[in-house]
Amino acid sequence: MSRFIDKRLSSLEAYVPGEQPKPGEFIKLNTNEFPYPPAIGVEKAAADAVNNMNLYSDLSCKALSESFENVFGYDRKNVVFTNGSDEALYLSFLTFCGKECGAAYPDITYGFYSVYADLCGIESTVIPLGKDFSVNPVDYYGVNKTIVIANPNAPTGKMLTVDEVESIIINNPANIVIIDEAYADFSAQTCVKLVDKYDNLVIIGTFSKSRGMAGARLGYLIACEELVNDIQKVKFSINPYNVNSITQAVGKAVLDNDEYYTKCVNEICKTRDSFSEDIKGLGFEVVPSKTNFVFAKHKEIDGKEIAFRLRERGILIRRFDKERINEYLRISIGTPEQMKTVYSALSDIIGGY
Ligand code: PMP
Repeated sequence: MSRFIDKRLSSLEAYVPGEQPKPGEFIKLNTNEFPYPPAIGVEKAAADAVNNMNLYSDLSCKALSESFENVFGYDRKNVVFTNGSDEALYLSFLTFCGKECGAAYPDITYGFYSVYADLCGIESTVIPLGKDFSVNPVDYYGVNKTIVIANPNAPTGKMLTVDEVESIIINNPANIVIIDEAYADFSAQTCVKLVDKYDNLVIIGTFSKSRGMAGARLGYLIACEELVNDIQKVKFSINPYNVNSITQAVGKAVLDNDEYYTKCVNEICKTRDSFSEDIKGLGFEVVPSKTNFVFAKHKEIDGKEIAFRLRERGILIRRFDKERINEYLRISIGTPEQMKTVYSALSDIIGGY
């Protein structure tokens, strides 16, 4: 650290992303990416966009918005596109959590919430999950803070119902509720329709998990017009061209092939459910997942040891050195073939004890 860094930042602990090895080096199941190739037409859309990359990108993301409206039913006045949903989260923290308001989120959740709160100088209220990793909606009633909940939650994979989310919104009329739906496409549920009813709700989503665009960085935020205008004002004060032209073109092509991605998502959910059952047979306790990953711990064998042995066999998964969850493995769901390989590796490792 240099002597010039702002004092406020000297104690900031940056987010630690999952390892990103060279493609093909591992069966990569550590960052919940989409395991299938892009739809037909996506490659051409990217190549065409390269021809115009000498020009700044479309500030209004017009073409992308039109395809987005066809799939999601919300148009530009309710949507902001971002450079990954991480940026949507950052903009939301900056815009809606002032010093006097603060932020409230679960103790076990997406690691970036606490990092953004610290970066923005926002005081955090951390609310423990239940013993079974459930979010208890009542814990959030009247907390008088900006509330941030990943639904489904990560890394647990558990989910609140739409009614439970709505009860949190109703019981915090003077505060913003941010629902991070990064994994919602794998849950057969979304709270997005509540945007029509509540002016204090922000829904955040991503093209990284269910639409195969993690490396192209495309996220979005859906909210009432007034909130969208607030976010736009902050975005235009930081980086108006936050979504590059190639990503806009690819995002549009992906949305225009929604049927393909829905089919892939259904396949991932099927693989998730059968993989969960299979590893229970190996002695794992598996948290029922509504996402594209499973969160599991072995009844006897140390999680760190299993992660290490998987890595030796060319399989990368995620584990967190954090109280309450350090025995758990978070395993992204890949193709059926990849999960067969993981299952064999796990049975091999466990059989050796
Ligand atoms: N929210 C949650 C809960 C996540 O797990 C992730 C992915 N790490 C994100 C948001 C951010 O995803 P991206 O920036 O790739 O859209």
